[in-house]
Amino acid sequence: MHILIVEDNALVASGIRTGLELHGLTSDTAAGVAEADALMAGRDFDACVLDLGLPDGDGMQLLRRWRAAGNLLPVLILSARTTLQDKVDGLQSGSDDYLSKPFDLPELVARLQALMRRAGGRASDRIRLGACEVDMQSGEVWCGGARVELARREWALLAALIQAQGRVLSTAQLHDSLYGFEQDVESNTVNVHVHHLRKKLGSDLIETVRGQGFRLAV
Ligand code: CA
Repeated sequence: MHILIVEDNALVASGIRTGLELHGLTSDTAAGVAEADALMAGRDFDACVLDLGLPDGDGMQLLRRWRAAGNLLPVLILSARTTLQDKVDGLQSGSDDYLSKPFDLPELVARLQALMRRAGGRASDRIRLGACEVDMQSGEVWCGGARVELARREWALLAALIQAQGRVLSTAQLHDSLYGFEQDVESNTVNVHVHHLRKKLGSDLIETVRGQGFRLAV
């Protein structure tokens, strides 16, 4: 899954990024409003962590603008503004959650996972995929009762397909979910990870949609 971090403090941003990575969540960082708009344009994210005090504008106004344009991305505001009124304003501006700074990384990750669980239409973190069972929070997978070890990128790919709820994801979209925008990775890596997932979880779990991409077949 692919998270947009809008945060002008580079240290905070890189801390969040590292924490998310440990949970198999890929992220890209925007240091201000203009950069956030540029990253959002035409790209898919699964959730956003939004700071409010940004050098070129206010996160709350950015969020209101996104919502007015019909953008439904799950957004968690992460801010040093901690009064009750700040939180009420944030939620009324269209954020789905509000966490005050200073914050604990495990809580941020858990809240993001809860937002994505809801957005992905799941009532629980445990889901069944054919003969396999997946824990979306821990990233653990069992098939036919036996634990299956997935590499980090394999898990990221599977999680993105699960989050898409049967929608087709293009190779480019999956690539973003696995690596973010910055990394220059060989073009066939998504296909390689799909191949490995099929070997581990069964060949019919992921369907190839010719000319379009991949989707979950169950
Ligand atoms: Ca700030």
